[in-house]
Amino acid sequence: STPGGTKSREEKIVVTVRLRPLNKREQLAKDQVAWECIEDHTIVYKASPNERVAHHSASFTFDKVFGPASFTDTVYEEGVKNVALSALMGINATIFAYGQTSSGKTYTMRGITEKAVHDIYKHILNTPERDFRIRISGLEIYNENVRDLLNSDSGRNLKLLDDPEKGTVVEKLVEETANDDQHLRNLIRICEAQRQVGETALNDTSSRSHQIIRLTIESTLRENSDCVRSYVASLNFVDLAGSERVSQTNSEGVRLREGCHINLSLMTLTTVIRKLSVGKRSGHIPYRDSKLTRILQHSLGGNARTAIICTLSPASSHVEQSRNTLYFATRAK
Ligand code: ADP
Ligand code: MG
Repeated sequence: STPGGTKSREEKIVVTVRLRPLNKREQLAKDQVAWECIEDHTIVYKASPNERVAHHSASFTFDKVFGPASFTDTVYEEGVKNVALSALMGINATIFAYGQTSSGKTYTMRGITEKAVHDIYKHILNTPERDFRIRISGLEIYNENVRDLLNSDSGRNLKLLDDPEKGTVVEKLVEETANDDQHLRNLIRICEAQRQVGETALNDTSSRSHQIIRLTIESTLRENSDCVRSYVASLNFVDLAGSERVSQTNSEGVRLREGCHINLSLMTLTTVIRKLSVGKRSGHIPYRDSKLTRILQHSLGGNARTAIICTLSPASSHVEQSRNTLYFATRAK
């Protein structure tokens, strides 16, 4: 295959890893840092002196790895920006944060959403010949029930419908048109606050629920020209449930860890992403097996572009979960 061909395939799914710093609790417990980032691409397990580590679980290489001192701005610039901004040209895009609970998914997604909004409005200012319209919707999937984050009165179980033109749509989901960047930021904040309301009402929801913030970006040319007249695409920011909800064996298949409830949407997503990364010969892709993958179907695979940020706790007490995250990340490449 040509170098060009390889490159474009690589860019459809960009997989990066972000290692957060040890938190206060881990420091107080004298937890050790178990991972080290090397030269921006590789993350290495630091075995203790008497430990023997299997070769396959010692070192992992990705498009980018970000160490504990890295800023969210850098994660955005190097791991997300190109994927996110393709939505301005009519290409659907999805950004995921994947990792165990408390590894930094929400922290990372919030910063990235903020940066993307900034860049989108910068692009709009620099593109006076086009007329842009941005709409936003927010939803949460908890136990395969869909809730509207922009309408707290909508109940907890919105239906999914199959629209012949639009594909899967969430019935009655509120979509607001953003007047400007400040308005859009406020609407995003409402979604985030709404998710936290659920968190206190139902114990532990944020580790079990998926949040999707979807921007629909449309633009049309103001005057006749040779350029493409209109674009429309969605840009999805997805803060996934904690990956401890799906623990996978090294090889094939999915195994439940003791005490963990299965999360159908997360399990189906990992299967879909693994099949997409293998390419055309992977056969049937089970988008329809879960709410999350149905909602995201047109923003995954095909011409869509995907950025996956896998977040990791550096602590030696979390090595097993961190390894599971890295196995997922490896299979997504
Ligand atoms: P998750 O959403 O994966 O459960 P959070 O994003 O809530 O995890 O992060 C857990 C805690 O760690 C939060 O207090 C957050 O502020 C902090 N944290 C996460 N990532 C980082 C980071 N890269 N740098 C500093 N603090 C972080
Ligand atoms: Mg979170």
